[in-house]
Amino acid sequence: MSKIEKLTEFVKSIYGNDRFIPLHEPYFNGNEKKYLNECIDSTYVSSVGKFVDDFEESIAKYANAKYAIATMNGTAALHTALMLAGVGNDDEVITQSVSFIATCNAIKYCNAEPVFIDIDKKTLGLSASALIDFLENGIYQDLNGFSYNLITKKRIKACVPMHTFGHPCEIDKIVDICKKYKILVIEDAAEALGSFYKNQHCGTFGDIGVLSFNGNKTLTAGGGGIILTDNKEFAQLAKHLTTTAKVPHKWDFNHDMIGYNYRMPNINAALACAQLEQIDFVLKSKRETAIKYKKFCKENDLFFVDEPSNAKSNFWLNAIVLKNKVEREEYLKLTNSNNVMTRPLWDLMSNLKMFENCYKDDLSNSIWVRERIVNIPSSVNLNS
Ligand SMILES: *Cc1c(COP(=O)(O)O)cnc(C)c1O
Repeated sequence: MSKIEKLTEFVKSIYGNDRFIPLHEPYFNGNEKKYLNECIDSTYVSSVGKFVDDFEESIAKYANAKYAIATMNGTAALHTALMLAGVGNDDEVITQSVSFIATCNAIKYCNAEPVFIDIDKKTLGLSASALIDFLENGIYQDLNGFSYNLITKKRIKACVPMHTFGHPCEIDKIVDICKKYKILVIEDAAEALGSFYKNQHCGTFGDIGVLSFNGNKTLTAGGGGIILTDNKEFAQLAKHLTTTAKVPHKWDFNHDMIGYNYRMPNINAALACAQLEQIDFVLKSKRETAIKYKKFCKENDLFFVDEPSNAKSNFWLNAIVLKNKVEREEYLKLTNSNNVMTRPLWDLMSNLKMFENCYKDDLSNSIWVRERIVNIPSSVNLNS
C-alpha cells in the first residue's frame, strides 16, 4: 500500500469504515433541543429574545473580551467590523491570499480593495515578517501617520489576518507593527473559536475580532457570527449597525443612519448557547484526533500541520502537506471516491478574477501551500 492509501485506511479506522466520512459535521449532544423548544414555546424565535443576550454574554466571557455582538453569520460580522474601522471607498485592507472568500468579499462590500501579503509556512496565517517588509518598503505615511500604498496611493485603513484552520498566526507581532503604521487590526478568527495564542483567545488581540458559527465550524448556530471587541464605542456602534440603526423608542420608528439587518435570530442563539456549553468536550475530542493523525504521519513519513509554537489550536480542520500537486490530486481522487471527504486549500484569492488586479507581494509561501495542502476529516469523534 502507498502512503496515501494507508492514510485513507487510517481515516476510516478512526471514524468508522462503513459510512461516508464528512470533513466536518456538527455535534449535538447537549441542550440543543431543550433550548430550541423553549425558544419556540416563548414565540421569540426572531430578532429579540433572551438567548441572544445569553449567547453574547457567554461568548464574551469564554473569549475574555469586554464585548460580544452576535450577527447572522461570520461574513456579516466581518463586514460590520470593517465598517467600524471606517473602511470605505478607495481604501485598502491588508489580508492574506490564503483564506475563505468571505474575508475578501467583506472588504469589497465596503468598496475597498484587498492587498495580499504572504503567509507564514509554519502558521499558515499572515506572515509578520512579510508584513514588516511591505510596511517598511511599500508605503508612505502622511503627517498624521496614516499609511498609503506607494504604488496605488490608496490609504491602508485596516489589516485582516486570518487564523487558518484554527492555528493562531503571530498575532502579537502583527498588532505591534500595525499600531506603528496606524492600521487597525481586525482578526478573522472565524475558524479559531477555542484557539489561544500565548494563553489569550484568538480574536481578542486586534481592535476587533470575528468568529463564525456556520454549520461546518467548531461549534454551530446553524448560521451565526460574533464581533469581539474591548472598545465600547465599537461595541455600541456594532449593535446599532447590525440592528437597522433604530433609535430606541417604546413605539416609534426612527433610524439615524443606514443600518443592516445583520442580527442573530433568537432561534440560532438558542442553538449556539447549547453548543457553547459543550466546547470543552468538543475541543478535547478534536485534539485527540489531531494527535492520532500526527502520530500516524510521523510513522509514515507524511507531513502533518501541527499547532504553531506558543499556541493552542482548536484543530478545526486537520491538514497534511503532500509532496507536490500530482500527489495532492492523487490523494483527493482516492479519498473522495472512497467515502472519505477531503478538500484542497482554497484557491488563492489573488487568482480569482475579482481580485487579480489587487496589489500583492510574491506570495511564494501561499503558492507553495496551495499546491500541497489537503484537509482531512476532523469532526468530533464518538468512536474514540
Ligand atoms: C467561515 C469563515 C468566515 C465566515 O463565514 P460565515 O459562513 O459567513 O459564518 C469568514 N472567514 C473565514 C476564514 C471562514 O473560514
